[in-house]
Amino acid sequence: MKRIVFSLVLAPALAACAASSHDVAPAALGTPRATADLEALLSIPGPVEVETVVAADWAVERSGLINLDHPTAKAAHLEDGDEPIQVYMHALRHPKFGLFLVDTGVEAAVRTDLDHSLFGGLLGSVMHADKVKVRTDTKAWLAAQPQPPAGVFLTHLHLDHISGIRDVPDATPVYTGPGEAAASDLLFMFTQGTVDEALESKGNLQEWRFEPDPSGQFAGVIDIFGDGTVWALHVPGHTPGSTAYLARTPKGPVLFTGDASHTRWGWEHGVEPGSFSADKPTSAESMKALLALVARHPEIDVRLGHQMLQSTSVAAR
Ligand SMILES: [Zn+2]
Repeated sequence: MKRIVFSLVLAPALAACAASSHDVAPAALGTPRATADLEALLSIPGPVEVETVVAADWAVERSGLINLDHPTAKAAHLEDGDEPIQVYMHALRHPKFGLFLVDTGVEAAVRTDLDHSLFGGLLGSVMHADKVKVRTDTKAWLAAQPQPPAGVFLTHLHLDHISGIRDVPDATPVYTGPGEAAASDLLFMFTQGTVDEALESKGNLQEWRFEPDPSGQFAGVIDIFGDGTVWALHVPGHTPGSTAYLARTPKGPVLFTGDASHTRWGWEHGVEPGSFSADKPTSAESMKALLALVARHPEIDVRLGHQMLQSTSVAAR
């Protein structure tokens, strides 16, 4: 985003604004636990099948995705420019509780009626929506499923993560991190209307009830179904309520970082997101916590916010 230009030129005339004015409520799901409770289960296969859907190819500024001022980025002579990325939706199939989505892919309207889609208008031009190449839209993907989704687990409220939500049935509960809608930024003057429009027909956003992790490794850890199969990890920084998810599958644990780490280079070099993040130092801490978890449990299959690691398979596991 054109944060710097916006801040310098327009900010004095405008007041900070919330990310969304949509109503929120405490999540009806989830039990706060300790990181140790999660780690005790990671070597035990679980029952959840996961599938990563590539919704779209896209390209955005590298300086937004990676902190180019980080010494490691400087040493690698990483420069700003277009970075190819992808927009994902992940499906979690729990044998008892049903189908859940992590983020929402891209709505069919981006393909069929761009001007009236969430990527239309001025915001779309700022976001370079013309560079979005849809591969699988959420409406078509959901139509091919034997069951409707039982819930949406959002990693955060940025538009590229809720861009398929209007294709999700209105009755589907939507879960997000705490303070995500209330987060305040001058930039949200541009985006609040579109985020509200995306959520218009949905019920209250249900916020995870994180509590401090006794070990301090994460800002909070929640056992979503209370059976140790799917977990929410509070990883603030990119946004205040940013949340990563971990599912235990028959082949081992799968971690969805959201935009706590957007890119393969960033993850592999331990460099946090750049200007797209609200709080870079905090996002660096959250990314370190995820990297440390994976270092302790190298069997974790990591699915990043916008790029795949080489070892990642998109096939169901
Ligand atoms: Zn994103």
